[in-house]
Amino acid sequence: TREIRLASRPVGEPTESNFRLVETELPEPGPGEVLVRNLAMSVDPYMRGRMNDGPSYAPPWGLDEPATGGAVGTVVSSRLPELPEGSLVLHYLGWREHAVVPADQLTVIQPVEGVAPTRYLGVLGMPGLTAYAGLFRVAAFQPGQTVFVSGAAGAVGSLVGQFARLRGAGRVIGSAGSAAKVSFLTEELGFDAAFDYHDGAVVDQLRRAAPDGIDVYFDNVGGEHLEAAIDVANVHARFALCGSISGYNATEKPCGPSNMSQITGKRLTLQGFLVGDHTDLQAEFAETVGGWLRSGRLQAPETFVDGLENAVPAFIAMMRGGNVGKMVVRL
Ligand code: NDP
Repeated sequence: TREIRLASRPVGEPTESNFRLVETELPEPGPGEVLVRNLAMSVDPYMRGRMNDGPSYAPPWGLDEPATGGAVGTVVSSRLPELPEGSLVLHYLGWREHAVVPADQLTVIQPVEGVAPTRYLGVLGMPGLTAYAGLFRVAAFQPGQTVFVSGAAGAVGSLVGQFARLRGAGRVIGSAGSAAKVSFLTEELGFDAAFDYHDGAVVDQLRRAAPDGIDVYFDNVGGEHLEAAIDVANVHARFALCGSISGYNATEKPCGPSNMSQITGKRLTLQGFLVGDHTDLQAEFAETVGGWLRSGRLQAPETFVDGLENAVPAFIAMMRGGNVGKMVVRL
């Protein structure tokens, strides 16, 4: 079997040479463990932080140790009656074809007809709950409001915009990195307006898209986007600070917003959040979002890459915008 290990820590953008694909012996499950054949694994922006040695909200990956991350797979060897062979499970030992997983560190997935296992890495998994908790709890979205989301064609962002629309937003605006993504947002996902952040100053494009200002900003990007959203925000607007991918590869400290004084004058609320603090919403989230997905009212695009040998290129491509919706590696 094969696994991917961190070979060196990147400076700036990660490259393929930061990783190593290694052949290993098929592991044996010990007491309380099962052997899982991974079907698919996730590549996510937060993994860029785990490649660094410094403190981040997730601990760093060890050098020459297998990388970790979300994965779904099938139990292929088990002595635990509650986890028979053939069980579908979600766990955190991705970046490898087989994983020995402690039974208390996995979630059993009850297969639902028409719902592919990869859904539990995206719309029905961590990115979906991030969008749900960030929009409805952290930003406290209310019907009629104008919502702006950056990274809008990605896993989290594409859901945020649609969740807002499904709950009666007044106007939904997205930004993304290409003309194709922009038309996907407005023509396929029902965004009212979208722009390519390469096409000019974000603040000018946002002002044109939101002539009456914005009430909610869901920030996936940081930097210039955050500053622009502060400029265009209405009084009492709420910002859910989910991520700041524009700075993840930075080698120097990025500039902060230069317009922080408006936060006071406009009485803005800016709140950072981590999805892991909102797992109490899981049941409500699964029911609501599962319902939207099954009814066809919610689209959850996925970009697939096949083979463990292509997981690193998939991660690098995702960091550069090579995905629409959730980037998933099928193993
Ligand atoms: P995405 O599917 O959105 O993929 C990342 C996207 O980021 C790319 O597709 C690219 O799209 C965009 N991007 C890359 N560089 C830049 C840049 N310099 N400026 C603007 N956009 C850029 O990833 P996720 O949906 O998984 O994650 C989105 C954000 O949410 C990230 O910031 C992530 O860290 C955060 N996150 C936070 C969580 C939390 O608990 N707080 C949980 C999960 C995710 P484009 O073509 O548009 O540039």
